[in-house]
Amino acid sequence: MSQVQTLPASSPVAFAAPRISRSDSLSFHRGGDGWTLVNDLSSSPTLHLTASHLPSITDENIFPSLPPLLHGHSDVHLRNGIMNAFTLAANHEPDAERAFFVGDLSQVYQQHLRWQACLPHIQPFYAVKCNPDPYVLRLLAALGTGFDCASNGEISQVLALGVDPSRIIFANPCKAVSFVRNAGKMGVDMMTFDNADELYKIARAHPNAQLVVRILTDDTKSLCALGIKFGAPLVTVPGLLAKAKELNLNVVGVSFHVGSGCYDPSVYTDAVKRARTAFDMGTEAGYQFSLLDVGGGFEDALFEQAASFLTDAIASYFPDRSGIRIIAEPGRFYVSKAFRLAANIIARRAPLTEVPRDEAAAPAESDQPAVMYYINDGVYGAFNCILFDHQTAHPYVLSMNGSFHVASSEALNNSSVWGPTCDSIDCVCTSTQLPSALRVGDWLGFDNMGAYTVCAASQFNGFELSKVIYTTGGLGASEVRSALARFAVEGHGL
Ligand SMILES: *Cc1c(COP(=O)(O)O)cnc(C)c1O
Repeated sequence: MSQVQTLPASSPVAFAAPRISRSDSLSFHRGGDGWTLVNDLSSSPTLHLTASHLPSITDENIFPSLPPLLHGHSDVHLRNGIMNAFTLAANHEPDAERAFFVGDLSQVYQQHLRWQACLPHIQPFYAVKCNPDPYVLRLLAALGTGFDCASNGEISQVLALGVDPSRIIFANPCKAVSFVRNAGKMGVDMMTFDNADELYKIARAHPNAQLVVRILTDDTKSLCALGIKFGAPLVTVPGLLAKAKELNLNVVGVSFHVGSGCYDPSVYTDAVKRARTAFDMGTEAGYQFSLLDVGGGFEDALFEQAASFLTDAIASYFPDRSGIRIIAEPGRFYVSKAFRLAANIIARRAPLTEVPRDEAAAPAESDQPAVMYYINDGVYGAFNCILFDHQTAHPYVLSMNGSFHVASSEALNNSSVWGPTCDSIDCVCTSTQLPSALRVGDWLGFDNMGAYTVCAASQFNGFELSKVIYTTGGLGASEVRSALARFAVEGHGL
């Protein structure tokens, strides 16, 4: 028999302002299942922020058209954002508790340093579609990367920053003819193709383009396989190149994409091998290829491995690299870690259960969630990555009962987390351990929210997109700020 349970609520629902003050010491502990406990000092393993260590938080407007770029660790800004929400709520502001991102540009910079350290001979062309954030684009432009654009809109956005069109590859193999023409008009010459129709379009709309043939590679070892939609099988490449010759087009090289979120970086080896074959087919067709584009797919945790597979494969299949430029199109790698999301618990209820539950008892052993939490961002917003990008969300507690301190001894409940819309597909997390004392008004945090999130979010049900608070974080902060300041002084991106 099914039984509906009622959850106890503090009555009246009164949420105290956070007890935290700037002089409090805070500590963080990452649990095995990915959620963070803010511990008592006594058991604190890692991070201590005291008033003397807290960076001064001052607004800076390097780019007048953008939100301020703050100083300080993203932890500080997550807490400030939450405290700000309490103030707004006290003033009865509508949407006071709205969800927000903290974007830490120094994380983007750290990834760039990693790229340069591991793949110094491969020039990154950041895949804009992954996160076209205005600060991210400005920083990468200032650091000298190129850009992989998928559309006319992305090309315009990048060119508007003062980036030279030679630093853009139009890497969508299937383009509207008007986009091809406009790319030509704007001086964007490098573009990919994987079919004969594309060659006819380009011959008509941008005959001087520098074409890159996108070949099909093994994409079965990735979260998002792309081969079902793009990539010319090697057997078709000679025919395509013959057609290109016939149309008097200039094919300059080969590209591939092993699939986004690649979890077996050994696939780069086979992909480079196929690219070698395509290079030889180019020579047969009367071309002398000078560009190898190794695409995207780079995962943060596996990056060094991927880089080593790539480096070895390039060394063995392209032993003579003179006259060959190598580029890549990383997206996720650059931005995933740089954005964290804070979302407010706006509602809570008990699911239908078979057995009555006693909340006072020890944490439920059952796999069935004991509590359903509703937060104010969901799969129609930032968490569209769950549907489109096959991601899993790992919530942790940012604040509970008006405090940023959550004792590690807190009893846990199996819980589910839902988005704010009236659609039942809007589930952020079907099952996760969260403190049983978690209530409406508390805040959850989500890390690694920078890739394929904001860019595909909708306003379904009238929910606004979550805004970003920008900071330059810790390590590399001054390099980031001076790169951006130089970029702005040159008159770019204002
Ligand atoms: C999406 C995409 C990328 C970026 O892929 P990541 O896996 O995010 O690195 C690069 N190139 C092309 C052509 C893409 O479509």
